[in-house]
Amino acid sequence: MTPHSTDTKTSNPTQNEETKEVKAKTALQIISHGPTIPGPPSFTSIDKHRAHILEHMAGAFRIFARKGFTEGLAGHISVRDPENPHTFWTNPLNRPWSLIRASDMVLVDYTGNLLGGNTTRPVNAAGFLIHGAIHKARPDVNAACHAHSPYGKAWSAFAKPLEMINQDACVFYGKAQSVYADFGGVVFKQEEGERVAKALGGEGKVMVLANHGLLTVGKTVDEAAYLFTLMERSCMVQLAVEAAAANGLEKRVIGDEEARYTFEMTADPDGLWCEFQGDFEVEDVLSNGDFRK
Ligand SMILES: [Zn+2]
Repeated sequence: MTPHSTDTKTSNPTQNEETKEVKAKTALQIISHGPTIPGPPSFTSIDKHRAHILEHMAGAFRIFARKGFTEGLAGHISVRDPENPHTFWTNPLNRPWSLIRASDMVLVDYTGNLLGGNTTRPVNAAGFLIHGAIHKARPDVNAACHAHSPYGKAWSAFAKPLEMINQDACVFYGKAQSVYADFGGVVFKQEEGERVAKALGGEGKVMVLANHGLLTVGKTVDEAAYLFTLMERSCMVQLAVEAAAANGLEKRVIGDEEARYTFEMTADPDGLWCEFQGDFEVEDVLSNGDFRK
């Protein structure tokens, strides 16, 4: 019996042993057969760490642009500075995501002061209010992504969480996902940013902002960016499923036990970091490394 089967329960002693054995391994060991896939790098200096963050942040924007997540000036990514954790890097307001480079990023604090980086362009006023409130409320969160991507925006009209209707969606199981149901107009007030951060909760990783779009967070920008691409696609899949269900096909949702198990096995921050590296590598080749400048 596998832990995924529908009638599985923890009463089977053999399965308990198997589960314990799996849980003793790291997430990267679990998904690797043979040598273990490498996880996030460590750095010998703050400068190297910062350069890595800015390059991966720029790479995430290029990927988002290529996947069609842009909408005018809307959307932003923020990443906490590794040296001064009360400050974070974000994108300039009027730099197209498909052209953005590491050297375009701006360093700001929670109150929106422009502290460093490329301060020749403004940052998004709504962006620093949302991201500032999240970084302030969640010391464990180093990166946040928000965009008005089409399927996220479409699904947000229902003000409902994504359902556990496929294995990939189980990454959003339980408290990992929340809904900010009270669209209070475009976020130009600090209280609105704080309400969004409160709705994310202490364990939230992804959020549906009703009538607005999606927001994801992570320990690394890679994790937050992968969660965003996964969530956008999951919204597309759920909308397709809802359309088919409205035509009379019966929708089947994964059982709570199986969804929780799958979440525990697949939602590890290092594993989600790894999930992003494929898109990053492709973007690096396609852009000839231009975003690293
Ligand atoms: Zn927005």
